[in-house]
Amino acid sequence: MPVELLGKSQQELREWMASLGEPAYRGGQLYHALYAERRFAFAEMTNLPAALRERLGREATITLPAIARKYNSTDGSARYLLPLDAGQGEGRARPASVEAVFMPSEGRQTICISTQAGCAVDCKFCLTATLGLVRNLTAGEILAQALVTLADNQGSLAPRTNVVLMGQGEPLLNYEPTMAAVRILLDPNALAISPRHVTLSTSGIVPGIERLALEKVRPKLAVSLNASNDAQRDAIMPINRKYPIAELLAACRRYPLRPWEHLTFEYVLLGGVNDSADDARRLVSLLSGMRAKVNLIPWNPGELPFHSPAEAAVEEFRAVLVRKDVPAFVRYSRGQDIFAACGQLAVIESAPALPAGN
Ligand code: SF4
Repeated sequence: MPVELLGKSQQELREWMASLGEPAYRGGQLYHALYAERRFAFAEMTNLPAALRERLGREATITLPAIARKYNSTDGSARYLLPLDAGQGEGRARPASVEAVFMPSEGRQTICISTQAGCAVDCKFCLTATLGLVRNLTAGEILAQALVTLADNQGSLAPRTNVVLMGQGEPLLNYEPTMAAVRILLDPNALAISPRHVTLSTSGIVPGIERLALEKVRPKLAVSLNASNDAQRDAIMPINRKYPIAELLAACRRYPLRPWEHLTFEYVLLGGVNDSADDARRLVSLLSGMRAKVNLIPWNPGELPFHSPAEAAVEEFRAVLVRKDVPAFVRYSRGQDIFAACGQLAVIESAPALPAGN
C-alpha cells in the first residue's frame, strides 16, 4: 500500500526516506518540492533524481481532493466542496466532505479551512453543529484545503496569503493534526506564511488554549465569545457549561502574546439575543486590561431561528466598545450568496431538496 505523504513533516519525510535506504536529506528535498514549490506529481519534482522519482511513484502517494463543487460568489469569493476519501485516514477514516473558502482582496487572499468534518461542539447559531462530528481530519487533509484552493487560483494569486482555521470543526479538539498542518503552513521552508497571517479560531476549549500557549510555533488565536454573560453563552454555546466565561478569559489573560500580537474575540451579533448596549458594556468589562480586539459579525439570516441585528444596534454596540478603547470592527461575512456561513454548504449538499448555487 503506497504511503500518503501529504501532511508529513520534514523530519517524518527524512525518516521515511532513510527507511527506504535513501539518504535522509532526500526527505528534505521532497519536503521542499511538496510544500515550498507545491509540486504534487513526483515526475515534476526535478530536485530529485529520476530513478528516485520513479520509486516514489511506486511507494508513495500525494492525495489532493478533487473539487466536487465550486460556488462562485458575486463578491469574488469561491466556496469549495471537497470530498475526502476514506483512504487518507490511515484505515480508520470514514469518507467525508469538507468546505474551504477562498476570498481574494487587495494584495492578499484569505483561505478559510476546516479541521474536522462536522463538529461536536453544538453552537446553536452554526449549521455545522447539525451534522454532529463526522470525523477528525488528518494533517494532510487540513493542509490540502489550502493547497487545492491555491492551485485552483494559481493564475491570479496576490503576494500575501492569510489562512484562517474557521471552517467546520473545533481545531483544538483535533489538536495534533491541526498543529502539524499549521507548522507546515508557517515553516519558512514550506508554505512560508507569516504567523501574523494564520489564525486559529476556537469556541473556547481551555485545555487546548493552554496547550497552544506552550507551542514554539503557533498561529494567532481568535476566541469565539458571542455573549456577555454565562447564562447567554450557555444558551447559544453549550461548551460554556464546561468552560465558563471566567475560566475561558483567565486562560486568555495567561496566554503569552508576542509583542506584535493581540487576541481576537469573535462576537456574532444575534438580533435581540446578545446585541444590546448593555451587552456591549458587559463585554468591555470582561475584556478590560487585555490586549484584545473584537470582530463583530452581524448574523446572516438563514436556516436557523435567529434574527439579524438592526443596523443601529450594530453601530451602537461598536461605538460602546470603541469609546472604552476596545478596538472593534464590523465584519460582514463574505459569500452570502453561496451559503458562506459556517457549515452551510455541507448541510445543503446533504439535503438535495434545498437550492444549491451555480
Ligand atoms: S461554530 Fe465552530 S465550534 Fe461551534 S459548532 Fe460550529 S464549527 Fe463547531
